[in-house]
Amino acid sequence: MVARHDLATDQRVRADLLEVRRATAFFARKLGELSDADLDAPTRLEGWNRRHLVAHVGYNARALCRLALWANSGEPHPMYASPDARDREIARGATLQPHALRHLFEHSAVSLDVEWRDSPDAAWRASVRTATGREVPFSETAWMRLRELWLHAIDLDNGARWGDVPAPIAERLLADIVGTWAARGERLGFVLSDPASGFSAGAPAPGAASLIRIEGPLPALLAWASGRGRASETAGLEARGIGEAPVRLPAAPRWL
Ligand code: ZN
Repeated sequence: MVARHDLATDQRVRADLLEVRRATAFFARKLGELSDADLDAPTRLEGWNRRHLVAHVGYNARALCRLALWANSGEPHPMYASPDARDREIARGATLQPHALRHLFEHSAVSLDVEWRDSPDAAWRASVRTATGREVPFSETAWMRLRELWLHAIDLDNGARWGDVPAPIAERLLADIVGTWAARGERLGFVLSDPASGFSAGAPAPGAASLIRIEGPLPALLAWASGRGRASETAGLEARGIGEAPVRLPAAPRWL
């Protein structure tokens, strides 16, 4: 039977689903502001125009639908057959007619929402594997999608700003990014903080050669850490090294 409401009872899952719906609406609005001809223009992502990006966001939702199938059936359904297959799909998707591309985004988002809505608690707790091979509870997929939607709305490069990302999402993203760097054993440790809000993320990584503190408003921190920020967007940040001596803002380590 198809539920008309979320079957999940976990409050964190329900809150994430609500946030995903908001982020989907935001991405849809930015996409709606683009004319068909605008879709040919470049994005913030090297080598991808907006067609590639919209196709990717659509296929990402479909890939997460496969994880929903996995979580609900217990049978492995990987997000993508291989990294190559993923890239080929995006390249092909980028050649779709504009109306088909827009349809892909809308339809895949609705399908994913239905899959999530109809997933019971047991499925949310089930283990699935992401495209990078990480084993995560299915509940992680809501956060994965949330990240994709906000960052790629900005990547569309038609006016979405870092400050549009809700502060709790921005803080979670920053903690996620800094955590990924530390887990990878980056030689340089970072602590990011926004004195105005009291937010702070990061800690000296074990064995890190040095530590840099970066302070400033949340949107600027996110612009910098995600590796997509323009100089004008990270201008409000101050970087300090050992002994709190001001240093030049370094390039952020690769994230994903
Ligand atoms: Zn992506």
